[in-house]
Amino acid sequence: MFELLFLGTAAAVPTPERGLPATLVTSGSERFLVDCGEGTTRQLARGRIGFRGLRTILLTHLHFDHLGGLAGFVATRALYRQKEAIEIIGSAETIAFARRYLETTVGAENEEGAYSLKAVEPGRIVARQGLWVEAFPVKHRGTGSLGYLFARESRHPLDPARLSALGIPEGPQRRALARGERVALADGRRIDPEMVRLAEIAGGKMAIVGDSEEVSSLAPFVAGVDALVIEATFLERDAALARARGHLSAAEAARLAAEAAVGFLLLTHLSHRYRPQEIAEEAGRIFPNVRVVADFDAVTVASPPRPRGGDA
Ligand SMILES: [Zn+2]
Ligand SMILES: [Zn+2]
Repeated sequence: MFELLFLGTAAAVPTPERGLPATLVTSGSERFLVDCGEGTTRQLARGRIGFRGLRTILLTHLHFDHLGGLAGFVATRALYRQKEAIEIIGSAETIAFARRYLETTVGAENEEGAYSLKAVEPGRIVARQGLWVEAFPVKHRGTGSLGYLFARESRHPLDPARLSALGIPEGPQRRALARGERVALADGRRIDPEMVRLAEIAGGKMAIVGDSEEVSSLAPFVAGVDALVIEATFLERDAALARARGHLSAAEAARLAAEAAVGFLLLTHLSHRYRPQEIAEEAGRIFPNVRVVADFDAVTVASPPRPRGGDA
C-alpha cells in the first residue's frame, strides 16, 4: 500500500493554486520525494510534513521546474540537523546537473554530509524490506529521463498476542510462521500461520512518470500497476504544441492507461491554459478511472483485495 501526497501539480510555472512538481510517496515507514520543484520545502511545511523518514529524493529529469527546490530543501533539512544524509537519485545526466547546482549553492552545508548523490541506470534501484523501486527510461526532449515503479509486497504480520497465548517461543518457529509455513511445537501441537496472523496489509504497485513526449515505450513498464501518475500538460486540440514542447495530451495519457491496463490514472503537471475539468473529460472518454490531481490531494494506492480462499 502506498500513500501519495501531491505537493506540486503545475507544469513549468507555479500558480497561486499549484506548486512545481513534487510528490511524496509513503509506504510503511519509508518515504520518498519524487521531484523537488522550487517551493517544495514550503509545501512540506504547509502540509505539516516533517523530514522524518524522508531520506530519498528521486528525480525524473534535469529540467529546472522538477529540481529547482533541491537547494532550499537540503539547506532547510540541514538546519533541522537531520542525522542521515538525504540521498538524491536520478540518471547520470540529472545527477551531474544536481551536483553542480548543489555545490554552488549549499556546498558548504554538505561538509556535514547533508546530501549524497547517486546516478542510476534503469533497473532496480531500491530494495528495502518488501519494498522495491525500479527506474525505467522515459523519452522527453533529449534528456536522460527516468520514471519510477514502486512495488510493495502484501504482508501478513504475526499477532504477538496470539503467539504468546499459544506459547510459541521467539526464534525459528516464529520465523517459519512469518514465512507462511506450518510448524510443529515440542508438545506435538501443529500451528498453521492463519492461527497467528493479523489481517493482511495490502501490497501495491504504482508508477510515476515525469514529463514524457510519447507513451508507446512506457506501456511495458507500467503494465498492470494499481495507479499511474503521469503528466497531462496539453489537450488533444493542442497536439501540435504538445509535440513541439515534448509533452503529452490528456488523451495520450489515457490511451496509455487503457493499453497498459492500469487500475487508476492520476494526471498532473497541469498547464494554466486549461480547466482541470477539461483535462478530466478528455481523458475520461478513453479511460474512465481518472483523476486530475490538485496540490495537497492525498491518494491511497493498494492492490484490490484478492478473493478469499484463493491460492494467492
Ligand atoms: Zn516539467
Ligand atoms: Zn521537462
